[in-house]
Amino acid sequence: MFVSVMFTGTSTMMGTKPGPVQIVTVCKEEHSFALDTEALTRVLLAPEVRDKHVVVLSVAGAFRKGKSFLLDFMLRYMYRKDDENWLGEDDEPLTGFSWRGGSEPETTGIQLWSEVFLIKKSDGTEVAVVLMDTQGAFDNQSTVKDCATIFALSTMTSSIQVSLMFLIRDWSFPYEYDYGFKGGNKFLDKRLQVNESQHEELQTVRDHIHSCFTSISCFLLPHPGLKVATSPVFKGQLNVVAPEFKEELKSLIPKLLHPNRLAEKEINGNKVTCRGLLEFFKAYIKIYQG
Ligand code: GDP
Ligand code: MG
Repeated sequence: MFVSVMFTGTSTMMGTKPGPVQIVTVCKEEHSFALDTEALTRVLLAPEVRDKHVVVLSVAGAFRKGKSFLLDFMLRYMYRKDDENWLGEDDEPLTGFSWRGGSEPETTGIQLWSEVFLIKKSDGTEVAVVLMDTQGAFDNQSTVKDCATIFALSTMTSSIQVSLMFLIRDWSFPYEYDYGFKGGNKFLDKRLQVNESQHEELQTVRDHIHSCFTSISCFLLPHPGLKVATSPVFKGQLNVVAPEFKEELKSLIPKLLHPNRLAEKEINGNKVTCRGLLEFFKAYIKIYQG
């Protein structure tokens, strides 16, 4: 997709709507990656944001896991956070990163929201928040390597992931571990405990997760309801979304996007601007193309 006019921060130009921009595409046949440098440049070098420190929030996972669905609610929050009813009207279709039911997957790779959001932190500094949708394909056509590369790219370029958050969806044991961060963190502690009886490889993975990420948390999200999961005509209207799911979204998203939680991306201990992130992306993709 091509977005000819960029929207950034508070500026609105000529009625072009913000939308998703594909910046990395995976070519399945050749197992290669293509970076759309022009598209990325348009997003990151928009005058209002290019010199601001960047916060990248990426959602990564397999196809059909509700990533775009979740990101679209994050977008709603970004655009309407002063409104108490930011989650939306009952019959309002959900728009943003494209999402749809069915099993036909969309493009594998990385998409950014064309509009970079400027958010003021409590110390008065403004940061540029980039929302990233990262799609790996765990289907028979792609190799584990392709998938690992997409996740490596998104992890290296995102900052929120560096304080890694596991989001477990369709949690159906609230009587064992409560929905939200409280139950999630308890559950995660239990799962990440390393003990002698585990296979060595599992122990290593657990140690590695702890050493790579400065902070790790977990959120348990309930099932959104059968219509959301199965209806082919569902357009994201809230009136068919399970009430407990909506409640947990209202708790999760403002916490996730709270100005003081937004961690600026750092490389070698230095905060990175949008401009710096563009260079980082270009350098990084080369490593994987080699
Ligand atoms: P993506 O491929 O990960 O971006 O997934 P989508 O956001 O496009 O959603 C894929 C399908 O899953 C759609 O039919 C959604 O209505 C549905 N869905 C969204 N969130 C959830 C969830 O938390 N649980 C379940 N079971 N389905 C969901
Ligand atoms: Mg998607």
